[in-house]
Order: sequence, then C-alpha cells, then structure tokens
Amino acid sequence: MDLFEYQGKELLRKFEVPVPEGRVATNPDEARAAAEGLGGKVVVKAQVQVGGRGKAGGIKLASNPDEASSAAEQILGMDIKGHVVKRVLIERAGIIESEYYLSFLLDRSERDVLGMMSAKGGIDIEEVAETDPDAIARVHIPPLLGISDFHARELVFGAGIDAAARKEAIAIIPPLYRAFVESDASLIEVNPLVLMDTGRVVALDAKVTLDDSADYRHPYFSELKSAHEVPEQERLAKEKGLNFIKLQGDVGIIGNGAGLVMSTLDVVKAAGGDSANFLDVGGGAGAELLSNALEIITSDKAVKAVLVNIFGGITRCDLVAEGIIDAFGRLDMKVPVVVRLDGTNAEQGRKMLADAPDELLIAEKTMLGAAEKAVALAHRGTD
Ligand code: GDP
Ligand code: MN
Repeated sequence: MDLFEYQGKELLRKFEVPVPEGRVATNPDEARAAAEGLGGKVVVKAQVQVGGRGKAGGIKLASNPDEASSAAEQILGMDIKGHVVKRVLIERAGIIESEYYLSFLLDRSERDVLGMMSAKGGIDIEEVAETDPDAIARVHIPPLLGISDFHARELVFGAGIDAAARKEAIAIIPPLYRAFVESDASLIEVNPLVLMDTGRVVALDAKVTLDDSADYRHPYFSELKSAHEVPEQERLAKEKGLNFIKLQGDVGIIGNGAGLVMSTLDVVKAAGGDSANFLDVGGGAGAELLSNALEIITSDKAVKAVLVNIFGGITRCDLVAEGIIDAFGRLDMKVPVVVRLDGTNAEQGRKMLADAPDELLIAEKTMLGAAEKAVALAHRGTD
C-alpha cells in the first residue's frame, strides 16, 4: 500500500523525524481555516499517489488564508496523471536553502536494507542515477544488526551534504530507518529533505510504501487504507473472493493458480497481446466463481476479448464449462471468450462448450493456440 504524503508524514512524525506542521483539507474553507491556524505563509499540496505534483501545478505557495483558499480551489479536483485530487495538505512554508534526497528500501537481492542519499534532491532520483550516478551515496544495512551512527555518517559524507546541514541530517537517519523497519515498509523516500534558512533539516516530502502482508501486525494499516479509493472492479473481486489485479491491456485473463495465470500473461505477450488483468480463481473453483470472474472482467470497457485458461486438477473442467455457460446466460456478453480446458473432465467440459449455441464462446485445445486466438480477436477491427 502506497501512503498519501500526509499519511507518510504522520508516520514519520511518530518516529520523531522532523516534518513541517500541516493540516489536511478537503475544500477551500477548510484550507482557509488551516492556513489561519498555522499562520503566515503556507504551501498547498495536492494529495495524490504520484510524483511530479510540483510540475503539474499541484503545489502552490500562499501568503495568507485567502490565497490558501483559492489555491485549494484550483488544486482540488485537478487531474494529475489520472489521479483526481480529493485532498490538499496545508503546511507552514519556509525558505529553503538546499534540497537533498534520502531513502530506505528493501534490497531483495542483497537481503538487506539499502539506504541512499544525495545532495541532488528535489528532482527525479532516477534521472540523477542516470546522469550522475556518483552523486548518490549507498549504504547497505544488515537487518539483524540494525543501523549505527557510522551508517548515517557514511551516507551524509558520501553524499556531500552541506556542512550546515550535516549534524541534523545525521540525526534524522536512524529514526527514519526505525520508521522503515518498525512499520514493515518496503520503501520510505524523502525527496526533498531540506535545509531551511533557520538551519533546521526537515522532511518536506514523504513517499511510503507499506507491506500489505504485514497488516495483521499493524491495526492502524486498515485505518490508513480507508483513505484510499479501491477501484470498483477490485472491490467487487475481493468481495467475491477472487484474486484480481488490474493491468493495462485489452485481453481479460482468468486462470486457476497464480503460476498458471502468470504464465498465461507471458503467453499472451508472446502472442503479441497485452493482458487487461490478473485473475486467479484458485484451486477447486466451481461454476459460481467462474461466472463471477467473467462478470467482473467484462465490466471493464477496455477488455476486447477474454482468455480462460484452466487446468483441472482439483478443479473439474465440466464445472468450469458450466460456470462459463451460466455467465453467458446471465450476462449480456459482448466480447468473445476463448477457453482452454485441460485436466480432470476436460473432454466433457469441451463438449459442453462446443454444444453451447453462443458464437462468442470459443474452445481451443492448447494454451498458445488459445492465447493467439484471444489476441487476434482483441485486435480485430483495430488494425
Ligand atoms: P513532488 O513534486 O510531487 O515530489 O512534490 P514535493 O513535495 O517533493 O515538492 C516539490 C517541490 O516543491 C519541492 O522540491 C520544493 O522545491 C517545493 N516545495 C514543496 N514544499 C515547499 C515549501 O513548503 N516551501 C517552499 N518554498 N517550497 C516547497
Ligand atoms: Mn518529492
């Protein structure tokens, strides 16, 4: 789960990482009140889970409550890279001397935590990594030993942080690491970490990704999650007990078993297509689950064809066929559904599909053949 900036900053505050004082507003009046409460100059920041808000016009400075209110009015409802702004964060604004970059992330290949710091902050770190890789200091922290002050010094001196910011920058690193570990985060990125004209070093932005598999250890995760909008399809899938992830292509995918579904995505790619989703109906899936899965997938307008790839182990292919035929009877199906069945009762299942009168229902024997058919049908009329 990716947190909104205001949530990330709340989390950092708990671990005593300095962040600017701020309040969340959902309308211009609340923004005005927040600015009045904070006093002085404020910055109004769009709360969306996507970077580059500054460039997109989602961050505005305001010298008084009236300006804060009109900045909020402009930013709320704005579409930033497909994310509509529902909230703004109003923060006390200061004068920035320097912007740095600081992050911790899980390094799976090294099996440790990687800390990165750079004196080139406020810009895309990927860009810095490409144009000036030496400007990024990297330190690996062994998770069993944890962080020591020398790690913090290595980062700060390695990155060439200004002398005026060194002491506070070093002091920020261990608490940021603790926030990372104790919250089961996979990423905490502070870009920029800033040196203010007052000499204070503060986290001006916070991008936090928490590990969803750890939410049972953190009751407050669900509270954080409630601020997030779950796409309608994903909500529905969860309700029906289906494992669903939206992707960007036009071939809807249904399979049983995560491994089979992933290989199906690969085969669709190999056939020159792009999958619209990942959907695992699980082992032992019956007619009802299959029918629900088809309903959810075809509710997406981007889907031009569906590929059902089932290997019957515990699952019985005749029940799968029954579910598909049931879905065709129940829903006003507009896109072709290509089905590949193999395993337990496959013959019987295939026969049921072949006997079904619907011409949008197509049975194929092999996985590759089915993928090629589905991709061809999805592209029909577009090229
Ligand atoms: P992002 O563009 O989505 O990563 O948003 P950031 O929170 O990183 O802000 C982008 C830039 O806006 C920062 O690098 C700063 O230069 C500027 N900015 C953000 N907050 C403040 C503030 O409180 N005061 C001033 N003067 N500038 C700010
Ligand atoms: Mn940023």
